[in-house]
Amino acid sequence: MPSKILISACLMGFQVRYNGREKADLRQTLERWQKEQRLVIHCPELAAGLPVPRRPAEIIAGSGDEVMRNAARIQENNGEDVTAHYQLAAWLALETARKEGCCAALLTDGSPTCGSRAIYDGTFSGTQRAGMGVAAALLSAHGIRVFSHQQLPELVDFINAREEI
Ligand code: SF4
Repeated sequence: MPSKILISACLMGFQVRYNGREKADLRQTLERWQKEQRLVIHCPELAAGLPVPRRPAEIIAGSGDEVMRNAARIQENNGEDVTAHYQLAAWLALETARKEGCCAALLTDGSPTCGSRAIYDGTFSGTQRAGMGVAAALLSAHGIRVFSHQQLPELVDFINAREEI
């Protein structure tokens, strides 16, 4: 049984920033994994009913795990508190990963939901800082290994080690 990987839906459209080599490597690996039926393509925010397009949202003075403990909030750039929507998004990502038997997740960095190494700092000034978004934090806390889209080689090593290739 191949190891399954939850993947941010937007990565499948390659709509994030890469240099040319990273993009080619990502495309090749994802195409192979898709043929092997390893990929569970999921957008937590869409699953939670957030609209398209939607306003930018950032974690205010906190991290994804703090949001999940109600110790920090998520706001849109007009000040609206959307914490509950993003908490639901995180729980739906975990539910999907568990239902599908995913051992790992490959998530788009920078997002208040999917970010795993970096998130925006809550000032809506385009400034990033180290931290996890809500879904990345919840998946990680429940034993699912989370990799950012910039950590494809590490994820490949993780999968190969699990399958002893
Ligand atoms: S980064 Fe945003 S748009 Fe992409 S899958 Fe995650 S929640 Fe959806």
